[in-house]
Amino acid sequence: MKIAIVVPCYNEEEMLPETTRQLLGIAERLKTECLADATLLYVDDGSRDRTWELIRAHAAENPCVHGLKLAHNRGHQQALWAGLDWASEHADAAISIDADLQDDVEAILSMVREFQNGKDIVYGVRKVRTTDTWFKRVTAQGFYRFVKWLGGDILYNHADFRLMSRRALKALQEFPERNMFLRGMVYSLGFPHSVVYYDRRERLAGESKYPLGKMLSFALDGITSFSVKPLRFIVYLGLFFILIALAAIVYALVSYFQGHVVPGWASLLVSLWFIGGAILLAVGTIGEYVGKIYSEVKRRPRYFIEQSV
Ligand code: UDP
Ligand code: MG
Repeated sequence: MKIAIVVPCYNEEEMLPETTRQLLGIAERLKTECLADATLLYVDDGSRDRTWELIRAHAAENPCVHGLKLAHNRGHQQALWAGLDWASEHADAAISIDADLQDDVEAILSMVREFQNGKDIVYGVRKVRTTDTWFKRVTAQGFYRFVKWLGGDILYNHADFRLMSRRALKALQEFPERNMFLRGMVYSLGFPHSVVYYDRRERLAGESKYPLGKMLSFALDGITSFSVKPLRFIVYLGLFFILIALAAIVYALVSYFQGHVVPGWASLLVSLWFIGGAILLAVGTIGEYVGKIYSEVKRRPRYFIEQSV
């Protein structure tokens, strides 16, 4: 049985030696404890430091280390996708993990055991986030809640640390979209799955490659890539404004008949709210169609067959 450990790297020269040391240690234990052959695949996401040279050196030293170099910095999700593509050809299962080893490498062993028990997908879920900064913790958890509220199906506190069987990888490859939010897509696959809990650690070296700006754009990408609810929200807002317009009409009429209004006030007040509401309603209606187009152009597969008898 072959397991590929896929590690996307962007400017991780400080982490690579330690990451390789620890992952090779895990590979050893996979061999003795689970009788599984592990290969390590580094995907260099267009780094500007010595990451690729280090990957090459490690690969030359050790036959089970492999590397892919993307020609350009494409972001974590795309780099991971490239690695999973490779793994789906070269291994029976792929485990994705960040290069900074904030996710517990020990959990890899439990993941492989779950895989050997017949699970197709094993999610790594963080128990507590005491090692993240206060800011990261609050924004990340707020994000999970917000996505749930929008109707998004994602697993709370699961990032991109997971095992996927070849079958699940092949299913994932059927998703043709370019705008990816992997943790949401994988979760929508179904298949037999289970969860492994672990403690998240601090980054051992280097700094986060996700500064606030990138984090925000990742969150926005995530939301807009699986939910059209923000569009529907415009319709509700329009309806709400029209309701206010109705209230304003009543209020204006009453004031008018009581006789203490400036000429022109009533018509202005009413049309202000009404036009606002009507415009939003119109935009929202168009949005509904845009949403339909959006989900159609993704051409997602309709179903996956898990078993047949
Ligand atoms: N990463 C990448 N391309 C990028 C940014 C990040 O491949 O453009 C990788 C990075 O090397 C790391 C993983 O994605 O292996 C997660 O990044 P990081 O640990 O900096 O994110 P954080 O844990 O702070 O959210
Ligand atoms: Mg990290």
